[in-house]
This record gives sequence, C-alpha cells and structure tokens, in this order.
Amino acid sequence: MSEETRATQPRSASDVGGWDDAADVVIVGIGGAGACAAIEARLAGASVLALERFGGPGGTTAASDGMMYFGGGTALQKACGFEDTPDDMFDYLMAACGPDPDPELIEPYCEYSVEHFHWLCEQGVPWKPSFFPGGHFPESDDGLVFSGNERVHPFRDLAAPVPRGHVPRTRGPAGGLLMQKLTAAAIGAGARLQASERCEALVLEDDGRVVGVMLGSGSGERFVEARRGVVLSTGGFIWNDEMLRQYAPQLLRCQHRVGTPSDDGSGIRMGMAAGGATLGLDSGDVLLPLYPPAALKRGLLVDRHGQRFINEDAYHGRIGEFALDACDGDVWMIIDSSIDERPQNTPAPIAAVEDTIADLESALGMPTGGLQSTLSAYNAAAQRGRDPLFEKAAEFVAPLVSPPYAALDLRMESAHYGAFTLGGLQIDAWGRVRASGGDPVPGLFAAGRAASGVAKRGYSSGLSLGDSSFFGRRAGRKAAASE
Ligand SMILES: Cc1cc2nc3c(=O)[nH]c(=O)nc-3n(C[C@H](O)[C@H](O)[C@H](O)COP(=O)(O)OP(=O)(O)OC[C@H]3O[C@@H](n4cnc5c(N)ncnc54)[C@H](O)[C@@H]3O)c2cc1C
Repeated sequence: MSEETRATQPRSASDVGGWDDAADVVIVGIGGAGACAAIEARLAGASVLALERFGGPGGTTAASDGMMYFGGGTALQKACGFEDTPDDMFDYLMAACGPDPDPELIEPYCEYSVEHFHWLCEQGVPWKPSFFPGGHFPESDDGLVFSGNERVHPFRDLAAPVPRGHVPRTRGPAGGLLMQKLTAAAIGAGARLQASERCEALVLEDDGRVVGVMLGSGSGERFVEARRGVVLSTGGFIWNDEMLRQYAPQLLRCQHRVGTPSDDGSGIRMGMAAGGATLGLDSGDVLLPLYPPAALKRGLLVDRHGQRFINEDAYHGRIGEFALDACDGDVWMIIDSSIDERPQNTPAPIAAVEDTIADLESALGMPTGGLQSTLSAYNAAAQRGRDPLFEKAAEFVAPLVSPPYAALDLRMESAHYGAFTLGGLQIDAWGRVRASGGDPVPGLFAAGRAASGVAKRGYSSGLSLGDSSFFGRRAGRKAAASE
C-alpha cells in the first residue's frame, strides 16, 4: 500500500474521541461542483460546512474558460434564435459520450437542463444573448457557441445540430466570474465556507455509513461530523502521476495537463477506501487544439501509414482522442500552398516540404504509395466537392493540388496535446456514490470530476462544468434530505 493510499484509509467513528465541528452536510472541495452542492443543500434547509484545502474557493473551475454544455431550449438558445429539445440533446449526448454512454445520468441532465440554466441565472451568472459562429471558444463576450461535434459527421445526422456551449458574459476566460458568483450565492444562502482545510480521510460507522471527515494529520488531526452526508467534490486526478500510471497511462503522454495541482484525486481515493466503486478511471478528454484557423480544416490528417483516420472538421477533443487511441500519437497534417496557415494554439513544426506527394511520403518515412493513394482518392472526390470516406463538411473540401506540399508535425512529442481525467467515483442520478454491488454507500455523495459523469468517454466542451454544477446541486439536495 502506498503512503498516499494509507493516508486516505477511513477512520472508525468509534476511534473518534469527539467531534471538533459538525454540520448536516459536509462538502469537501469548493470548486464548481462543491459550490453548487453547498447552495442547494442550504436551500433544502440543511446546515452546510464546505471545506477547501487551498486559500480560497475556486479550484480548477476558477482557472477554466467557464463554458457549460446546456440545451433543450434554454432561454439563451431561444434568445439567439435556436430551437432545441431535451430529446435532441439526449440523442446527441448518447452518441457523443460513448462508447457505452450512461443514460441514467444523461437523461436527467437533458430533461432538466433548461431549469438548471435558469437556476444559474438566479445565482447571478450573467450571459450575453448572442451567438458566436466560429467553432471554438469565443474571442468575444458572446454567450452561445457550438462546442462539440454537433455539426459534423456522423453526429449531424443523429440529432438536429444546435449550439449548446453556454459561456458566462465576460471578456476572456469566464471560470473566475462563475466561481465568484457561485461562492457569493453559497455564502448568501448561509453555507459556512472554510479555506485551508484539507480533508484527509472519511469517518465511518461500523456498518459502513459515512458520518464525518478527518482534517489534518498526526497531532493536528481534527474531526468534523456530517449528520446527513458528505459530498466529495474534489476534482479529478490529472495532477497525480501515480494514479495516472495506474489507471490512465496514455494521458501521461500529453504535454499539457488541463487542470491545477488540486486535481490529485484525493477525493476519489477517499471514496474508494470507503467502499465506493469507480467508473472509467482510464478515460480522459484528450484535445489537440488545431483550430483556429478554420482554413486548416481543408488539410488532411494522416497516420504513420499515410492514411486518414477522421474528418478534419471534427471537434478538437475527438481529433485528440483518435490521434492518441487510433494512431498511437503519430499524426501529421498535410497541406498545400493554398493553405498557408499554422495552428494558433499549439506548436506544429513543419516536418517536411516537398514538390510532390511521393517525395513528401518518402521524407516522412511512410510506406511507399500510402500517402499518394490517400491524396489521389481524396482529390478525385474533392473535385466534386465530396468526401465520401469521412463526410467532411463541403465547405472544407477542396483538392490539394498546389505544390509545394507540407506536413505539419502533430506527434505527441511535438504538438501540445491537453488532457484531463473523466473517470471517478460511480454515482447514480442523485450523486449517491455506489458500492461495487450497486447499492449506495450510505452517507456518501460525489460530483464533478471526483465522479464519472455525463461524458463517460467522448467529450464536448462544457460538459465538465455542466455536469459538475448539475450533479453538484443534486448531490447537495439529496444529502440534505438524507436521514
Ligand atoms: C484552462 C482550463 C480551461 C477549462 N475550460 C473548461 C470549460 O470551458 N468548460 C468545462 O466544462 N470544463 C473546462 N475545464 C475543465 C474544468 O475546469 C474542470 O473539469 C472542472 O472545473 C472540475 O470541477 P470540480 O468542481 O469537479 O473540481 P474543481 O473546480 O477543481 O474543485 C475541486 C476543489 O476541491 C479542492 N480539494 C481537492 N482535494 C481536497 C481535499 N482533500 N480537501 C479539501 N479540498 C480539496 C480543490 O482544491 C478544489 O478547490 C477547463 C480546465 C482548464 C484547466
């Protein structure tokens, strides 16, 4: 047993000499999920103590772009002239969050998305009712954007393509503003928020019920009683190399960790030690931020055999996932002189420039004929404006016939792949942590990246904050109502 694992082993309530503090609901970690749990538990009438290990609330949520994935006909979607339904949102997420998506979580997330967006407005989160047409994070204070694969093959044929990325109104990253509003709302609702309090372990009754938490260590140990429940909202584990090596080693290859040092998986480990089951710990969002500029979507992404593997207009999280999983991270983008652009948000060194595709193929060390046959098949169909192999949108389909040809090096060691973890404690639709047999661990709740959520595998931007806030609320409400 490693030192980390030993430290998170639960303590027995019978060994606790006396409680140093108490509340109906104790929340561990004050990021997006924790703040929403605190507000909702208070609104349900429970006393709430929320504990944060760092100097103040925020977590990775405060460092984020603040985009949230909502739909089904939110007021913002309507104000921007888009029609959406919970069913279309459900169909999209069931297709995009797989393989093996989780309808138990996706269904309520879609059914109550309109209400949840309204609730965030009530907490003071502002939105500008304007649509940003580019397929990436707005460079303006626009409120609505396409944030996933809604407009691209095969998803556009499975559900009506509608933008669902909701961004709070501010210039630049909106995570700080989001946390500011949620923290103020939690304090306003009467929750007690305490900073610089690191939770080390859970406290259990003999029958396995979670009845409190332990803070500090050694002679500084203190115990807080949770009369109705503990909510773990401690974030993911992209900052914990030991956990990554054990559960998701492929993510260690990504140069950029999309997270903060608080993402060390402490809550997941505490929950596991208390009998909580986990889901998808091997799963992560892997993103390759190739666009903007959109002109690069006219290029061709190829593997080490010179073969295409995806439609180049796909969401950057899907491209990153396929590049790592299907191509083992050996990927290049082929462009010609009509596309004289470079990605704005990742290095993409020029691996080779040649006057013919045959010479390019040879310079890249690809098998003879592979890249040449890819280009000739693509160009033949592109003359007619079509991409029968991957159905890239017609606006990005044009023959690559203007030498010289170049290959942009997008291998893992050259480009900035970003990653964060998606797996965590297994929860039900009310944020109750499940034990391995499926029954809830009594008194234990989780939300946000401490839990496996809506994006069990495939990701669309905004789903992490979207489900952190949604299931954070549900966990807080359910904990408040527990006996
Ligand atoms: C640059 C960047 C941009 C991003 N943009 C987006 C975006 O636009 N949309 C989106 O959906 N996602 C985005 N993400 C991902 C998203 O921010 C996170 O997945 C999300 O914030 C997780 O929320 P959370 O509430 O689970 O965790 P957090 O917000 O990280 O909160 C967890 C809190 O728990 C505290 N904590 C941890 N362990 C303990 C402990 N043992 N005791 C006490 N406290 C503890 C932490 O210090 C932290 O404050 C982005 C991430 C980054 C880094």
